[in-house]
Amino acid sequence: MLAVADGRGGRISGSDGHIHVESNVLREGAAVRDVLAATFGHADDLPGEVATGCSLRVPFAMTCRRPESVTCLPCRERAGRQHLHFAEQVERLADMPGASLDRPQADRVAARYRELARRFSDT
Ligand SMILES: [Zn+2]
Repeated sequence: MLAVADGRGGRISGSDGHIHVESNVLREGAAVRDVLAATFGHADDLPGEVATGCSLRVPFAMTCRRPESVTCLPCRERAGRQHLHFAEQVERLADMPGASLDRPQADRVAARYRELARRFSDT
């Protein structure tokens, strides 16, 4: 793997050939973006280069949300943990006063993220 320090606490990956997972799971995925946009009124645009779960910076095209396509093991493990954590957060969000998600919606989103976590843990 070719990697150099980027001066921002990460390493820039040259051509390690792996498909990674973006470190900020909350930013990835249309479903999450829709939830965030519905809750907070906006979601960020996708960047050209992203930090990964294994502390690299790679072109967004070298990342994937689909668990079966991710070949970087540290990214798979981290993404699995983050998806479980996010499922718990969505469930708690539905219980907050004024929440834009009701319980059935939150349960569906949480189930989807638990399933993604399970798929990331499969090898
Ligand atoms: Zn990685």
